[in-house]
Parts: sequence; C-alpha cells; structure tokens
Amino acid sequence: MHVLDILKENKITELRPPQKKVIDEGLFDKTKNFLICIPTASGKTLIGEMALLNHILDENKNLTGKKGLFIVPLKALANEKFDEFKEKYEKYGIKVGLSIGDFDTKENLSKFHIIITTSEKLDSLMRHEVEWINDVSLAVIDEIHLIGDNDRGGTLEVILTKLKNLNAQIVGLSATIGNPEELSNWLNAKLIVDEWRPVELKKGIYFENELEFVKSPAKKIKQVSKNNITDLIVDSVEEKGSCLIFCNSKRNAVGEAKKHNLTKYLTRTEQHELNKLSEEILSILDTPTETCKALSECIKKGIAFHHAGLTYQHRKIVEDGFRNRLIKVICCTPTLSAGLNLPCRRAIVRDIKRYSQNGLVDIPRMEIQQCIGRAGRPGLDPYGEGIIYIKNEKEIEKAYEILTGSVENIYSKLANQKVLRIHILGLISTGEIKDGQNLVNFMKNTFYAYQFGNIGAVLLNVSEVVKFLEKNKFLETSVLKKTENTVRELSFDSSNNLVLDSKETSFDLANPDSKVEFRSTKLGKRISELYIDPMSSEIIIEELYELKKKCAQLDRSKIDQSLFYLISKTNEMRPLLRVRANEELDLILKMDKMGLKDYSAENIEAFKNSKMFCDWVSEIPEEIILEKYGVEPGILRYKVEQAKWMIYSTKEIAKLINLDSSAIYRALMEMELRIEYGAKEELIELLKVKNIGRSRSRKLYNAGIRSKIEINNNPEKIFELFGEKIGKKILGELGMKYGQQTLLNFN
Ligand code: ADP
Repeated sequence: MHVLDILKENKITELRPPQKKVIDEGLFDKTKNFLICIPTASGKTLIGEMALLNHILDENKNLTGKKGLFIVPLKALANEKFDEFKEKYEKYGIKVGLSIGDFDTKENLSKFHIIITTSEKLDSLMRHEVEWINDVSLAVIDEIHLIGDNDRGGTLEVILTKLKNLNAQIVGLSATIGNPEELSNWLNAKLIVDEWRPVELKKGIYFENELEFVKSPAKKIKQVSKNNITDLIVDSVEEKGSCLIFCNSKRNAVGEAKKHNLTKYLTRTEQHELNKLSEEILSILDTPTETCKALSECIKKGIAFHHAGLTYQHRKIVEDGFRNRLIKVICCTPTLSAGLNLPCRRAIVRDIKRYSQNGLVDIPRMEIQQCIGRAGRPGLDPYGEGIIYIKNEKEIEKAYEILTGSVENIYSKLANQKVLRIHILGLISTGEIKDGQNLVNFMKNTFYAYQFGNIGAVLLNVSEVVKFLEKNKFLETSVLKKTENTVRELSFDSSNNLVLDSKETSFDLANPDSKVEFRSTKLGKRISELYIDPMSSEIIIEELYELKKKCAQLDRSKIDQSLFYLISKTNEMRPLLRVRANEELDLILKMDKMGLKDYSAENIEAFKNSKMFCDWVSEIPEEIILEKYGVEPGILRYKVEQAKWMIYSTKEIAKLINLDSSAIYRALMEMELRIEYGAKEELIELLKVKNIGRSRSRKLYNAGIRSKIEINNNPEKIFELFGEKIGKKILGELGMKYGQQTLLNFN
C-alpha cells in the first residue's frame, strides 16, 4: 500500500493501535467519513496525514490532481504543521500550502495539494468563490470538538455543512467528548473512540504533600519548602521530569511562577544557559515591560509563565526552553493545553474553578482532561502524571469525579444571532443560497437543526436574521408567491413546522409554497468578503454618516479619535478594556468634550479603547500604554491587529457609501499604516526593519537617520545610539556589506 510505504520512508515503521483500527474500519475508502476521538499525543495527526496521502497520490505515487484540506484551530498550529508536512512530503512532489493571512484576499492556492488553514480563513476563501475548492476531495479537521466553542464553533459548523454538501471525505480528529455519537451521526461518519496512549497516564489528586492516584498506590511527597506545590515540582525535577502548572488566569500563572525557585536543582551549564534566555527575554521589546522583567527573573530560576499576554517571541522562547529541558516548569493558562505539542512529566491543574461574567464557575471537565492529558513525554517518561491540586479536603470528592467521570456534551453554537448574521449573508453573497428553499435545506443540514430537532424554531431564528439583513440593505428579497396564511400570532402546526406571521414578514421560510429569492447587494457582498458582523457594519455606516455631518468642524486629531471610537463600538473589538471606577468620571468628561452624549457603560468602555489606540499611533511609549490601560504586551498587539482590520474594513465601507473623497477617507488610509506600527507616518520606513521598534525608530529619526540606506551608511551612529549588542543585531539583519565590514572594525 503506497501510503504505508511513504510512512516507512518517513521512519514510521509501525502503526499505533488506534491508527490500525481506523485503517481496518476503512480510512482508505474515500467515501467514508470518520470521527476519531483518541487522547492527545496518541497520533491523530498521522491519521489525517494518511488520509491526505491516500487522496493525493495514487498507487504508483503519482499525483492524482486532488486536494486535501487540513483545518486547524490556531495560526501557530498551522505554521507548525506546514513546516512538518513540507519536510516530510515535498520530496514526493506534493506541494504544501499555508493560508492563514488576511481575510480579504482571493488567494490562488490551486497549485497546492495540501492546504493548511483555519476554519475562519477557509470560510473567507469560500466567500471569495475560489475555484480550486471543487478539487478538494478530503478535509481533515483537527480539534473538531471546537464545533461546540462559543466563539468559533459556528464557523466550523458552517464549513462542515458546506463540505458535506461538496461530498468531500471528512476526517474529524477530536479530544474526548461526551456525545461523540451525536456528532458522528450528523457527519455520517464512522466513530472511532479509543483510550490508547503512547505513555501511560496516572491520574491523581494532590493534597498536603500526599499524592493519591486513582489506580496506583499513593506517594508521599518529601517536604523541602513551606509551599507544597514547590515540593511537588522539586520531586519531579529531581527525577529529571518537567511540569506544567495550569492556573485559572494570566495573573495567577505569573503569581504562581514567582513563588518557586529551582536554582538549587540546576547544573552550572543549565544556569548559564538559563541566564542567556533570561537576557534574551529582556531584549525583545525596545523597553522591557514589567511582565518581561518578571519573566526574565523567573527564567533564571528555571521556571517560566506562558499566557496570551506575552508576545509571540516571548512565548516561543519559553516553549523552546521547555522543549530543550532547560526550563523545568511552566505556569500557564489552559490555552497552552489546547494547541501546542508540549508534553511534560507532571501536568498539575492548580485551579478547578475560574472567574467568568457569572462569577466563579467550574472549568469544563473537557478542558481539565486536555490539560492533564499533556503528561507523559514519549521516549522520555516511563509514565505521565495528571494531577489535580486541591487546597481543601472538601474538594477531594469533586476532583475525583473530574478525573474519573465523563466529560461534557458539545452543543451547536449556530443558534447565536451574530453567527447566523455573518453566515447567512455569506451564503447568500456567494450564491450558494439563492432562495428560501435553499436556505431551509442548508439549515436542515446543520448540526444545529440535527441536535435541536425543532426545525420550526430554527427557521424562526433564521427569519429574524434575514429581516435584519434586508432592513440594512445588505440583501434584497423578492417574494414570488405570497402565502395565503394571514395568522397574526406565531404558531407551530402539528408537525412542528413554523407558521409565520405574514403581516410581519412577506415570506415564510417554513412554507414550501412561499417562494422567496435572495440577492446580496453590492454593500452586502463586500461586507461578507470583509468577514465582519453585519451588525458592526450597521454601526460603522451610521457612525460614518454622523461623522460626515460634523467633520468640517473637527481637526485631524478629533477625526482620528472619532474613527477609533467608531471601530471600538463594533462587535469585533470585544471584549473591551474594562473601565475602573476611578476612571469613569474622567472618561465621561473627555467624552463630553468630544461632543459625545451617550454615557452608557459600553460606550465608556469603547471610548477608553479608542484612547488607547490614539496613544498607540501617537508614539506614547509602550510601557506607559501598558501601565495606563492595564494591558499586557500580547493583548495590546492582539487589539492592534483587530483594530487594523476594522480600520481597513471601515475604509472599504466608506468607499461603498461614497465617502472616498472625504477627509474621513484620507484619515482612514493613513491610519491603516500608522495603527500597524504604532507611529507617525514619518517612521514607517524605519519600522519595517527587523529589531527596530517604535522608540528605536524615533531615536534614529531624531538623529537624522531616516531610511535603511541611511542606517547602512551610518553604522558608527547605530552603535553609538544603541550599543554594541543591539547595533550588531540591527546591522546584521540588514545584511549589507558595509554593515558587516563595520562590525569587523568594531570588534
Ligand atoms: P495528536 O495529534 O494525537 O496530539 P500527534 O499526531 O501529534 O498527536 O502525535 C504525537 C507524536 O507521535 C508525534 O511526534 C508523531 O510523529 C508521533 N507518532 C504518531 N504516530 C506514530 C507511529 N505510528 N509511530 C511512531 N511515532 C508516531
């Protein structure tokens, strides 16, 4: 069999039990869908790879012309898989493509055989009506259980519904879920559930230096400090094991990391290498923030923290340091368990509850299981230990239940109106849905309808959304034949079909005799391509018209501020920065000065966000912004990224409503560049050079160095301004001859 030959050539000589099982059940039959629920690290990806090879290469290892999609939940994961697949499969002529960039592009990926992407990106590509999609004969979906995720599940569900309609083979890879049968039945997929793991996992509860395992004898942990988590990690480190400690918030992850010091247990070489990492952490940003300093200090002691507040580079240093076994312990939030392949000896869940909008709530068991599932490094550990730490004896029973009980069911998230708005407009814009009947059929095929059962109620929800889209002129409907029905109240007939109120709406989705056609307007189509919530577009359009009225009286900085306020009011910018009680009055006064009169809590929050963006583009030093707005570097970058997209979208919408010759449009064009770099326009060329951030570029600019060439021509000045180490980095990055020469002279 050609697929197995290729695996052998890539040093996979034997399949693992769940992999064998999937093949025995017919993975290579291209018409069979699969839902595979097996533990983390047991080799799910390889199952997806086998399916891909089966479609792309024929028995003689020649290309078949077919394509396979590999859909992952995170960009970081997509990058990881891209490198891995390229290395393994390009030698067979297989072209591996990665598509994770901006949403508003019609990328031509037709030359690739494997396309690695995220659900959102794939959805946006489908909206741009890419032709190559018809050559896709297989879709592998990693972490398919995310169909139940509040934020991202809806998109995944729509994609899966479309893929089902394309008749592509679907191979879903999932963590353990409570109701796998329901999902596999919907997918018309063969269900494979297996508990096999490459390294045995011992599950246990840790309380007052006593480690009780569910199935193995208990272990007493030697007391070496006053902190019993320190004792637990020292116990691992002494046996050459590493630990992940999962905490319920970013702040707690940092706090936990600061509590421990492993210097006594490090070799000299390790200490030396860790000191180097610790310095590297400080050199990433122009000016290290408090978080960087804390991380740098922790790393010297053999421990680190990891959460969304760190920048990508900081996270990478921590991850690599842990993989190289220099960093012994990482305190993290559960996000680390979701994506990255970072196994450890002991996975310790420190918290089983976390704060949410509804106060302190239980962390889902599924998440806890994923965290503890990280324990056990293949080839390094004889077994892994997944441990729940408890502070109070009363929690023992609950922890035991989490470790031994079943995990939650997953539920469709398509009922959410925001999700429906985005997707119904998308489907109508691409012409996939042309009339009421198409829409009803599409909805009937969703997991939402499958799970919910009551198609009438589903269609009621859908009708609301269509009405909203029509009201805002994102789409037009034409009713070919009205129903006879004139019932005033909403009601359901004996087969549970919805009977719509015909005075409220001119069409009746639930009635097959009611013929309605849908067309997206030019505006609707563009909004769908921009991949933003139609409700946000409504806000943008209203606010742009308002701004146009008062624009003549506003100076440029006020226009900028108004635009940042406008985008901060959209759904895409949520969650917003919280407003502290002692800031509220000041913000209201500032809003008043801007002529803003509606002081609702949401508007005050949006205003605070807009102030942060204003500071960002005005070159206020990053550390001051972080302090003033109480954000962390990774979150600031994430928000800036979102803002950049919304500024671009606002500019595109402004064009469509004929504002493209206005001062507002000019401001939007300039802002697009400035928001990315957080600087005035004059610095942008310098900011494009690696290792030059906002404050370094300002220093260069003020010293008269304003371009790459000028950096190259003035190496002495660069060393004078930034010192030897950073100077070398900047010049080295440019790779220019003169720069290199100067480096030699300087040494
Ligand atoms: P999962 O996707 O289930 O979390 P992966 O597919 O990433 O796990 O597999 C974990 C590791 O096991 C990877 O390094 C992978 O190369 C390796 N692996 C998978 N299947 C086999 C096999 N049959 N033989 C040897 N190594 C394997």
